[in-house]
Amino acid sequence: MVEIINQLKELSYNLYWSFNNEFFSIFEEINRGYWRWSQKNPVKFLATINQEYLMDVIEKRNLRVRINAMYRDFKKYINEKETYFNNKYYTFDSPKICYLSAEYGIAKCLKFYSGGLGTLSGDHLKSASDLGLPLVAVGLAYSFGYMRQYINKDMRQSELYETNDFNMMPMTLLLDEDYRPLKICLNLPDREVYAQIWELKIGRVKLYLLDTFVDENNVEDKSITDILYGGGSEKRILQEILLGIGGMRVLELLGIEAKAFHINEGHSAFLVFERIKNIMNKFKIEFDEAKDICYYSNIFTTHTPVPAGIDIFPRYLMEKYFTHYAENELDVPFDRLFREGDLNNNGHDKFNMAMLAINNSNFVNAVSKLHGVIARKMWSLPPERSQIASITNGVHIKTYMSMHSEKLYIKYFGKGWFKNQNVWSRVTEIPEDEIWKTRNRNRKSLVNYVRERIADKLKLVKEPEEKITDVENLLDENALTIGFARRFATYKRGNLIFRNPERLKKLITNTDRKIQFIFSGKAHPQDEGGKNLIAEIISYSEDKKFKNKLVFVENYDVDVAKYLVSGCDIWLNNPRRPLEASGTSGMKTVANFGLNFSILDGWWIEGHSKDSGWSISSPENYESLPQEEVDRIESESLYDILEKEIIPMFYKRNDKNVPVEWIKKVRSSVGLLAPVFNTERMVKEYNELFYMKVR
Ligand SMILES: *Cc1c(COP(=O)(O)O)cnc(C)c1O
Repeated sequence: MVEIINQLKELSYNLYWSFNNEFFSIFEEINRGYWRWSQKNPVKFLATINQEYLMDVIEKRNLRVRINAMYRDFKKYINEKETYFNNKYYTFDSPKICYLSAEYGIAKCLKFYSGGLGTLSGDHLKSASDLGLPLVAVGLAYSFGYMRQYINKDMRQSELYETNDFNMMPMTLLLDEDYRPLKICLNLPDREVYAQIWELKIGRVKLYLLDTFVDENNVEDKSITDILYGGGSEKRILQEILLGIGGMRVLELLGIEAKAFHINEGHSAFLVFERIKNIMNKFKIEFDEAKDICYYSNIFTTHTPVPAGIDIFPRYLMEKYFTHYAENELDVPFDRLFREGDLNNNGHDKFNMAMLAINNSNFVNAVSKLHGVIARKMWSLPPERSQIASITNGVHIKTYMSMHSEKLYIKYFGKGWFKNQNVWSRVTEIPEDEIWKTRNRNRKSLVNYVRERIADKLKLVKEPEEKITDVENLLDENALTIGFARRFATYKRGNLIFRNPERLKKLITNTDRKIQFIFSGKAHPQDEGGKNLIAEIISYSEDKKFKNKLVFVENYDVDVAKYLVSGCDIWLNNPRRPLEASGTSGMKTVANFGLNFSILDGWWIEGHSKDSGWSISSPENYESLPQEEVDRIESESLYDILEKEIIPMFYKRNDKNVPVEWIKKVRSSVGLLAPVFNTERMVKEYNELFYMKVR
C-alpha cells in the first residue's frame, strides 16, 4: 500500500498529470469534495488528507490497479526513447533549447498565468515533452499569481489575491549540498537582489521559476515576484530584469548550456544583454562583435498586432537600472545599450522591449498568417535580414480533452489513440450516434459543473435557500449551448451578441429550439472598459427574458476552460479585426466535437471552411468604416447565421433523434482542424525552422 501512495506522490509532482484524465478521475473517486477543495492540487490533497482514510478508499474502491497502471504509463512516457526528437535529431550533444515566458498556464492550481499567452507557453512545454525536445524553460514564481475574480453585489468584477503556498504545490525548491536554497543574484545599482529557484516537471521538460521572497531581500524586493502584471513600470522592469538576466543566471548556476534562446513575447528580452555579456567574457571580445554572435541564436515570438500592446519603459528607468550594467558589464556607454530598444532612434524616447528582441533575434515570428502580414507592416525590417515569419499557434489537445471525448477515441482507436497519426481523419469511422452521445455527455457535465459552481457561490454569500435550489433550473442539458470565454478585453467584444437585444430575445425565448449562452472571462484589474462589459453581460443574465438561459461563470481558468470548450456545441469568437493575433480557445473545442463560429481573424482565417464551422461576415472595407457600423454589420451576420443555419441544423434530427448533418460537420471539423491547430505541429515548426538551425 505504501508503494501505491508513493506512486501517487511521485505522479503528483510531475505535471504529466495535468493532461491525464485518468489522474483527475482517480482523485475524484478518492474524495470528490476534497479534490475540489484542494483546487485540484494533488500535492496539497495528498499532504493533508488522512492517510488511513486514503489507504482505505483506495482499497475499497479498487483503485490500486488503476493507480498502478497509470504509474506504469507515466514511467513509460518518461523513459520513452522513440520520440520525434530522438528519431530525427539525437546526437550525444543535443543542443539545449531555452524558453522564457512571463507566464505559464499549466494547471488550475498553478496560478502563474493570466490568459492566452500563458496557456500557450504551458502547451508549448507539454508538447516539447511529448516530442522529446531537450528544452528547459524559465519564468517567475508569483507568490500571489494572477487575481481571482469574483462578482460583487453590483455585478462588477472585484479581485482577490490568494497566496500561493509553493510548498504545497507541484514544485520543488532547488537546494545545494548543504540543503540551503540555491540562489541567483542580481546586482542592481545600489543593492543586490536574490532569488531562489523552484523546479517544475512537465513530463520530460523542466521549468525553473524564480522567487524573490527570500530573507536577504528587503521588503520591496521580496515583492518583485508577488503578482503577475501588477504594479507600475518600476515593478515591471524589475520583474523583467529578473526574468531575462536572472533567467540566464539560472542556466549558468545549474550548468545548463543552451544553444537556442526563445524569447516568448518581449518580457524576457533583457536576456539579450546578459548573453552578450557572457559572450564578451568567454571570447574576450567587444560589445558589437558579441552582439552579432548572440543574434544568431535568439528567436523572438511577438503576440500583439497593436503598438499599444507592447511593453515599454521610460528612459529614466532604463538609466536607473542599466547605466551601471552598460558601463561595467558591457563596456559601452548607456546610450549604446539604449539604442537597442529605442523605437524612434532619437535617444530620449521610450525603450521598447519588442524592438530590443527584434534587433537581436535572427528569427522573429508572428502567431498566425494574418498576424504575420500585420507584424511585417508594423516593424518593416531592412530587406537584408530575414523577415518576420508566421508560426500559427496551437493547443495541447490532451490538456483540453474531456474524459468523455477521450473515452470515445479510446473505444475506437485503442489506448494508444493519441500516437496514431491518422486518428483525426479516421473520426469518420466513429458512428454518428456515438459522437452525438459524447456531445450530450460533454454538455451535461458542463451544465452540472456550472450549476455546482454557482450554487457554491450562492451558499457562500448566504443567499436564501430557494435561490440555491433554483440553480437546478439553470441551463438545459439538451439545449444548443453557445460558449464565449476569454479575457474581457474590449477588442474581443464580449457584448456583440447583445447589440440587438430584441433579435437575441426572439432566438432565446423560442421554446421549441432552445439555445443558451455561457460566458466567462476576467478583465484586467485596471481595465474599466472590460469590467463594464462583464457587468453588462451579468445584468442580461439577471433579466427575466434571459433568465436561466444565459450565465456568467466566475473566475475563468484552465479548469473552467476545459469544461467549457468540451461542453459547448458552438464556440463563439467575435473580436474586432485584425486585433486577435491568433486566439486559441476555439482550437480547444475541435477534438471535443464542438464547432467554431467566428469572425475571420487570427487562426480562423486559416482554419475556416464551410465544412468545418461558421464564419461571421465582415464588411469589405471594414478598416475605413466607423466602428459602430462594423459592429452593426457583423452582429447582423451573427444573428442571421445563428437563426438561419446553426439553430435549424442543430435541431434537424433523424428518427433516432441524431442531428446527422451537424455530426457530419463535426467530423469534418475534427478531420480538417485537429491535425493542424495543435502545439505538436507548432513546436515541430519552431524546432525545424529555428531551434535546429542554430549552429
Ligand atoms: C485558451 C485560454 C485562453 C485564450 O483564449 P483566446 O480565445 O485565445 O483568447 C485564455 N484563458 C484561458 C484560461 C484559456 O484556457
